[in-house]
Amino acid sequence: MDKEMRVRFAPSPTGPFHIGGARSALFNWLLARKMGGKFVLRIEDTDRKRSTPESEENIKSALKWLGITWDEGVDVGGPYGPYHQMERLGIYKKYTDRLLAEGKAYYCYCTPEELEAERQAELKAGEMPRYSGKCRNLTEEQRKQYEAEGRKPSIRLRVPADEKIVVHDMVRGDVEFDSNGIGDFVIVKSDGIPTYNYAVVIDDYLMHITHVIRAEEHLSNTPRQLLVYEALGFEKPVFGHISLILGTDHTKMSKRHGATSVQAYRDQGYLPEGIDNFLALLGWAPEGEEEIFTMEEACREFSMDRVAKNPAVFDIKKLNWINGQHIRRLTPEAFFELAKPFMIRAGYMTGSETGEKLAWLERVVATAQTQVDYGAQVPEKVAMYFTDEVEFENDEARAVLSAETVPLVLRSLLAEFEALPEVTHDSVKGCFKKVQKANKLKGQQVYMPFRVALTGNQHGPELAEMIPLLGVDRTEKRILSTLKKAGIAL
Ligand code: GLU
Repeated sequence: MDKEMRVRFAPSPTGPFHIGGARSALFNWLLARKMGGKFVLRIEDTDRKRSTPESEENIKSALKWLGITWDEGVDVGGPYGPYHQMERLGIYKKYTDRLLAEGKAYYCYCTPEELEAERQAELKAGEMPRYSGKCRNLTEEQRKQYEAEGRKPSIRLRVPADEKIVVHDMVRGDVEFDSNGIGDFVIVKSDGIPTYNYAVVIDDYLMHITHVIRAEEHLSNTPRQLLVYEALGFEKPVFGHISLILGTDHTKMSKRHGATSVQAYRDQGYLPEGIDNFLALLGWAPEGEEEIFTMEEACREFSMDRVAKNPAVFDIKKLNWINGQHIRRLTPEAFFELAKPFMIRAGYMTGSETGEKLAWLERVVATAQTQVDYGAQVPEKVAMYFTDEVEFENDEARAVLSAETVPLVLRSLLAEFEALPEVTHDSVKGCFKKVQKANKLKGQQVYMPFRVALTGNQHGPELAEMIPLLGVDRTEKRILSTLKKAGIAL
């Protein structure tokens, strides 16, 4: 029997949780679910200056929001913990001692200034900067001398010269590197904290990770990690580097292309299922044509074979469309919950409404469900129910009101509405029909001017749905105020 697939997501908690990180987490999660494997969450917090507990919380809460739950890792525990790297320093030390004893690693006493001077000299000579190996073969005497000077050593891995290092990548095929371009690199810094390329290997090995799926940005780190696997005699996992995320202009995804943090989308009222769907398509495609799917459907279909090599393009328009599709699928209750914070912020409700007022708000909000791509767009779509001011969306809309028949149509409709014993969808519809017939007009000539006069827009929800919600008085008020603005007398 094949061994159980074990994948991991290993973020550094150093800032807002980026969309790219969420995509890596999602691909690992989908793969684990598809293969009946385990998904591990490890926190790589060795960058003491930049790691913060807030960032870790933010990552965990975003993952949970996206439905990306972990089987093992921080908070939930598991057999191969601890899952914070800073709690594993003793573990790394054991392996470092072994490497030092075997001569596979050595102490380096060079100061940052000396290293920088070396780097500059190499650059000047037109060489690729890498460590010269100055401390490679220090005698015991020299070491003592440096120690006596109070220098704190880092520890470097002895990298063999002239070796081809090949990354067998699930997505990219074989990618070759030259060990000469790497040089002896630091595995433990002078403060005793391991570097990423070192700790990641020990952790992935000890946590029995079978597949390391991560962003393409890390491909160039992989040869270093392979050297550590070699030095420690560890069995290597399978690697898969998923492509860069670019903006629509094909430059690296940045704030210019839209918000980059998961939180920003959450704050704007995007749905986790919309974001998941969109992220899944950033580098993967299901077999069929269907682009809208749930996490469960994606789990069933996910496979690394369909993960593309070429860069994924982050197109906010596509995200909005996808999210909009998921919004249409919500129950009215769920849509109302999504809209609520935005309605409160807009001052359209307090959140403590009950009874008839609440029922009215629910009906008002429901009118926006087919029109918005994310929650923050709801208030502008329902603004007409809360103000009597009408703004024309453009000159074209304004021009609709200049038709000769407009005053007659509007006057007749208002009179019909006023006379209604009950203002309902059907009775309002009846009024439109009646006025159209009586004046021998086309539907367009009746509906369109009324729509523009009422909303300022040429498009929107059905009028027969809006008018009962607004009530005849407010409908009339809005119509009169628009006409005044347009200089038309009834
Ligand atoms: N801590 C690394 C990062 O956040 C993990 C990279 C990896 O998956 O190996 O980029």
